[in-house]
Amino acid sequence: MAELYDSIKTIKGIGDTRAKAFASLGVESLYDLLSFFPRRYEDRTSFVPIALTGDGDQVCISAVAAEEPRLTRIRKGLDVVKFKAADESGIVDITYFNQSWMKNNIHRGEEYVFFGKIQASGRHRTMANPVFEKSGKTDGVTGRIIPVYRLCKGLNQKAVLQSIRCGLDSVSTFLPEIIPEETVIRQQLCRVTYAYENIHFPSDFSALENARRRLVFEELFVLACALGKIRSGRIAGEGIRFFMPDISEFYASLPFSPTRAQRRAIDEALKDMCSGLAMNRLVQGDVGSGKTLVAAALIWAAFKNGYSSAFMAPTEILAEQHTVTMQKLLSPFGIEVLRLTGSMTSKEKREVKIVLASGKALLAVGTHALLSSDVEYSNLGLVVTDEQHRFGVNQRSALIEKASGAPHVMVMSATPIPRTLALIIYGDLDVSIIDELPPGRQKVDTFSVNSSYRERLNAFIRKQAANGNQTYIVCPMVEDNDDPEAASYTAGLKSAEELTAELRVLLPELNIECVHGRMKAKEKEALMNAFSAGEIEVLVATTVIEVGVDVPNATLMIIENAERFGLSQLHQLRGRVGRGKNKSYCVLVSDAEGEDVKARLDIMCKTNDGFKISEEDLRLRGPGDFFGSRQHGLPEMHLADLGADTNILKAAQDEAKSLLSSDPELTEPNHRLLHDRIEAMLKQNTSFN
Ligand code: ADP
Ligand code: MG
Repeated sequence: MAELYDSIKTIKGIGDTRAKAFASLGVESLYDLLSFFPRRYEDRTSFVPIALTGDGDQVCISAVAAEEPRLTRIRKGLDVVKFKAADESGIVDITYFNQSWMKNNIHRGEEYVFFGKIQASGRHRTMANPVFEKSGKTDGVTGRIIPVYRLCKGLNQKAVLQSIRCGLDSVSTFLPEIIPEETVIRQQLCRVTYAYENIHFPSDFSALENARRRLVFEELFVLACALGKIRSGRIAGEGIRFFMPDISEFYASLPFSPTRAQRRAIDEALKDMCSGLAMNRLVQGDVGSGKTLVAAALIWAAFKNGYSSAFMAPTEILAEQHTVTMQKLLSPFGIEVLRLTGSMTSKEKREVKIVLASGKALLAVGTHALLSSDVEYSNLGLVVTDEQHRFGVNQRSALIEKASGAPHVMVMSATPIPRTLALIIYGDLDVSIIDELPPGRQKVDTFSVNSSYRERLNAFIRKQAANGNQTYIVCPMVEDNDDPEAASYTAGLKSAEELTAELRVLLPELNIECVHGRMKAKEKEALMNAFSAGEIEVLVATTVIEVGVDVPNATLMIIENAERFGLSQLHQLRGRVGRGKNKSYCVLVSDAEGEDVKARLDIMCKTNDGFKISEEDLRLRGPGDFFGSRQHGLPEMHLADLGADTNILKAAQDEAKSLLSSDPELTEPNHRLLHDRIEAMLKQNTSFN
């Protein structure tokens, strides 16, 4: 008897060749095969009288062949079998192209079921290449809902169907139920065997719906349990109880007055930190809403309480910039701000590490380097991570585990995350939303143009410089590449270095520099500092500047090959301008044709609302691609639609939470299978680790 995690080769009819083809689709074990869900379904259940069919309908008709099929050769390489079929309501012309054998399969006077697409003009109807079977004979190709699978070379629908049928038959009696019995009953889920049977071979639409709901639930439930286990160290744990500092002292030191939304977020966080429980809060605010200030206020509060803070950013440039900002905001209070990034020399790092371990209350700003095993923190009271979705689930936990107790945690997200995804990625976080921009900000006017606008663009760059403002130009690729494979990808793309050289010739009076991912951190840093200081008028860059960079004097953002970027990414990039008092612009340059590209760029021109944009993005790209699965660290979903299955997700999370609270390690015997499934999932998704 087959085991669930056995190779699919144990199934009758799957040999080496077919197994290889399946492997290229990611299907290796029997379990993979059963979880290889249909991409869509064809409804072959509805029988329609011929006279009632309309142009373009996909229908089954039950009709008698009214004549013997005729084979006609139209030209070399094209022949056609043709005949009329009729039911009581009307007649349809049926044709098969290049399937001469059909002539012998259909016989005058016999009744068949045909499934296909109707072409109608006036009263005349035709159907080309329909699937058919003899009436009354149920080969299962008509009269039912047919699953349609993703295919690859070496696999056709029939082969997949057949393999799955055999797979189901070989396990039907022992498919394990991994969802606890109470949950199955409470959530009114159908049985696992029924679910797998009906997701592949639905007996009708309500069975399909039931099957789908159960399997989506299972997928999200396992995910929620896995994430819950990872987080369990800090769920609703006791935390350090801060005393409430007088925040007006901090506000009084600022060059501006915090917005109402910033004050509210700060108040909410302070309340958490003084509650005795560990804070676990997401601060979500559109680009430019001033999240950094919220972080600074909390770091200040931790310091007032005698605790250190760690502030983690996703890139070196951002860590550097946050260091400078924090020094400005916090050194007046005597808070020492240290930077720790991967590019520092080991001597520099060693010096920083000594101070970090010294017991003094301070602030460490850095990248992943903050997590390395030889970094020790004394009295870490607060952990802030910026642009959160770029860190894997476990990287966050790693920083938290560095504290001796349970530190307060605040995560800041610039990309407004649709509610469903936020629930999954952050679990039980409390959320503060900064729904207000600092005063005086104007909408960034956005235009979509093609490269025929090049000259006008250059004039526009010159104009910004004449007004004392600066320009960013973002390119998708670094440089021309000798590697032929990369070259075909780069073809037509403006590389940052090429463009820089070009512009230096065209705009000789301007200082134009180029910053990209392959530069040394020190060089990048120097260039960014020079740009911040206004010494560079035009900064050509790859997406290293995508997140967080804050130079209020920059007023023009030009994005080359804009079609290459996701909407959320474009919004992030656009957020680099419009941060100061001066009117700012974003120009999307693209020569790409195609309705979908136009539609996407159009959304950017129409709205500045990050939330709308991210929902559009989710809709257009699907959740798997939303942040890039590597970035959000989630496994790929087979069936669940993270953008749409909100209710099931909520239920799955509630069930996971109550299960984990009664059996946190899932050691009870009847949770064994669930435990194993989660372990398998964690092992497969290295981003968890
Ligand atoms: P983001 O939320 O994108 O991280 P930042 O924290 O970088 O935004 O803030 C964007 C800019 O707005 C910075 O230059 C910051 O100094 C400025 N800023 C933040 N809060 C205020 C405020 N209340 N009034 C005026 N300017 C502000
Ligand atoms: Mg920021």
